[in-house]
Amino acid sequence: MYDAATWRRAAERGSGTGMVTTRQPHAGASGPEAHGPRVLVIEDELTIAEFLRVGLRYEGFQVSIASDGRTGLRLASEEDAALIILDLMLPDLDGFAICKRLRERGSTTPIIMLTARADVPDRVTGLNLGADDYLTKPFSFEELLARIYAVLRRHGGAAETTLLSGGGITLDTETREVAHDGNRLDLTPKEFALLELFLRHPRRVFTRETLLNRIWGFDYVGDNVVEVHISHVRQKLGPSGRQMLRTVYGIGYSFRPDDDETLA
Ligand code: CA
Repeated sequence: MYDAATWRRAAERGSGTGMVTTRQPHAGASGPEAHGPRVLVIEDELTIAEFLRVGLRYEGFQVSIASDGRTGLRLASEEDAALIILDLMLPDLDGFAICKRLRERGSTTPIIMLTARADVPDRVTGLNLGADDYLTKPFSFEELLARIYAVLRRHGGAAETTLLSGGGITLDTETREVAHDGNRLDLTPKEFALLELFLRHPRRVFTRETLLNRIWGFDYVGDNVVEVHISHVRQKLGPSGRQMLRTVYGIGYSFRPDDDETLA
């Protein structure tokens, strides 16, 4: 499954014009405005590091990047990171060694380790060394984001709510329950992720490219996958589905829970 070209394509989508232009209105989109918790990314593959940097800043996190283990270890000691995303395979000092040293020094900063899909025994070792969670490559950004919020919540570091609502929809990110006007909805994981993203960012217009990047990430599957999933979510939302989950012609999609025709 792992293949460098897929990563590169996904990273290019991540830093390409589609994502950047839709992201600009958001406060976390570029540098100095970000004021959320700091995430330290220790990752030697630049395309992945960039993919994470763009996505995390968009979510309002401050981001530091270290592209080798020693720099990572130094930044982990010097900076006030709320969370560390740690790649396992690094050129000098590997992820296990970094994790072990940080824990030996008494650091309690939560660590999410990135491992290759095949390295299942490695996950166990990582968790034994004090990592809080692990994610196997390739992963989608939303998957990582969910882990980040969960880990930060466990560490009491983020006031992230688990209950999202809008337009009569309630979505609980913890129990994975979704209801619309009191009726329970059965959504597939991708439909759930789509609706969660829209509920987190009402009125924002997401391009198809951004949705592909955010929801499907490195598991990129096909050309009309976004359209098909939007259509399914609309159907499940019933008669008001199309109204709430607007097509913004020539641009993308936007969640308009307040039914305001004039701003469509
Ligand atoms: Ca690596």
